[in-house]
Amino acid sequence: MAYDFDLFVIGAGSGGVRASRVAAGYGARVAVAEDRYMGGTCVNVGCVPKKLFVYASHFSEDFEDAAGFGWTVGARSFDWQTLVRNKDREIGRLNAIYNKLLTDAGVAVIDGRATLLDPHTVAVGDARYTARYILIATGGWPNLPDTPGVEHAITSNEIFSLPKFPERVVIAGGGYIAVEFAGVFNGLGARTTQLYRGPLFLRGFDDDIRAALADEMTKKDVDLRFNTTISKIEKTAAGLALHLVDRANGEAPAGTIEADALLCAIGRTPNTAGLGLDKAGVRTTANGAVIVDAYSKTNVDHIYAVGDVTDRMALTPVAIREGHFFAETVFNGNPLSPDHENVPTAVFSQPNIGTCGLTEADARTRYGQIDVYKTSFRPMKHTMTGRDEKSVMKLVVDRRSDRVVGCHVLGPDAGEIMQGIGIAMKCGATKKQFDATIGIHPTSAEELVTMRQKSPEPPGPEAKAAE
Ligand code: FAD
Ligand code: NDP
Repeated sequence: MAYDFDLFVIGAGSGGVRASRVAAGYGARVAVAEDRYMGGTCVNVGCVPKKLFVYASHFSEDFEDAAGFGWTVGARSFDWQTLVRNKDREIGRLNAIYNKLLTDAGVAVIDGRATLLDPHTVAVGDARYTARYILIATGGWPNLPDTPGVEHAITSNEIFSLPKFPERVVIAGGGYIAVEFAGVFNGLGARTTQLYRGPLFLRGFDDDIRAALADEMTKKDVDLRFNTTISKIEKTAAGLALHLVDRANGEAPAGTIEADALLCAIGRTPNTAGLGLDKAGVRTTANGAVIVDAYSKTNVDHIYAVGDVTDRMALTPVAIREGHFFAETVFNGNPLSPDHENVPTAVFSQPNIGTCGLTEADARTRYGQIDVYKTSFRPMKHTMTGRDEKSVMKLVVDRRSDRVVGCHVLGPDAGEIMQGIGIAMKCGATKKQFDATIGIHPTSAEELVTMRQKSPEPPGPEAKAAE
């Protein structure tokens, strides 16, 4: 059968754009449909504007810290509209670049929402397109709770373009987005409260880092309330009234808090509702994630899926890698399967977290015998500013092989530091090789090659029983 295209990609986000360009580069006739914004979540309402806002928010501390170095900084004020306008201009520039990258590669860009009609046919508005292969790259969508009054809450989709700066912000959630935005709004001068349903946020990250970030955020005056959720949201003349419950105390009422904005950052769901996957026979999990094999292939031979819609690891570089390897596999006869082990990642909290590999707890479960090296110190800059901010660095080592299986950093630029460590860990570097590496002085990162003192073993079950 003659198809209109060799490949039809649904979604021009991180994964879809890379797959389209690489496939077109191998001579495939490619179309990509996008119904919202070129570049997807990362460019428009994710990584890019988020990082710009993180930069914006850090100036308040930088101005304060300058005094210790002899500077007198005059009157300061912050203008939200200027930040939003300049951010929009930069994103407009990026949207145009993405569009050009695709059209220059010979990809047909189709504006509009695509749905599957059958295993080879896609509809966009009234138009119908057939394709030999279909790639689903539709990303994810923020979740909202079913709390009464939730229509007054916003998500990360809206936060970047609020018409007015919220002077009092409450953030619900304890994952990447929640801690990043708590730092952003606190730094920009809003009275900021973060609510998390469990005893300590960032579940899945190393425990020492989670606890240390909570300490640092508290020192910076973020009002962290753990074991706390919202039972009701009311609109009042003064803004929003949020009724809280204490989950550590049998869901007892825990007072009310007033806010100008409530940001819900409680996770994201794969974007497959109404996509017509059933008509194409594509299987999904209970939460709508497309089920794929190691090559990103669905249960239908010619339909693939990459990125957040597959709910593997919701990070832009991962979506890009999955998209690239899909195109290599299908259009270059070079089967490549993305490796999701030892993916370095950063949380752009304040201070940053950079992490790669296993937490101490997970390494203990996987390897049994491990050695842990950790240090906590005041970064050199703050010896002059007087700021009481601590950095934490931690290496987790498999004792049998001496391989570094986990690296965790809390501190300025931890995200930048972790990229190089990610390479070392991908190469299977041992602690001995870390030790053999000469440090760069004076940096914080040099601690990662100078730690020699093993942390004491945690008490075993016998010791705990005796306590
Ligand atoms: P997306 O980028 O979401 O692209 C999917 C595209 O498909 C969208 O443009 C959507 O409009 C389109 N689409 C959906 N359905 C249809 C349809 N039926 N027809 C046509 N088009 C459709 N990751 C990092 O690595 N670092 C970060 O710092 C980071 N920060 C983030 C901050 C926030 C606030 C958020 C929300 C996410 C962040 N992420 C970050 C995650 C990152 O944005 C995602 O992992 C990444 O964008 C996933 O790419 P994707 O291609 O799977 O999907
Ligand atoms: P996450 O999955 O990271 O965190 C969700 C948080 O919401 C968790 O703390 C979770 O708690 C909590 N939660 C879940 N359901 C509820 C509920 N019903 N009520 C109250 N709390 C709830 O999601 P995010 O939305 O923060 O981000 C989505 C993904 O985007 C991230 O996982 C990450 O992959 C990506 N991202 C990456 C960034 C980066 O690379 N810097 C930045 C931003 C996003 P619990 O732990 O108890 O389940």
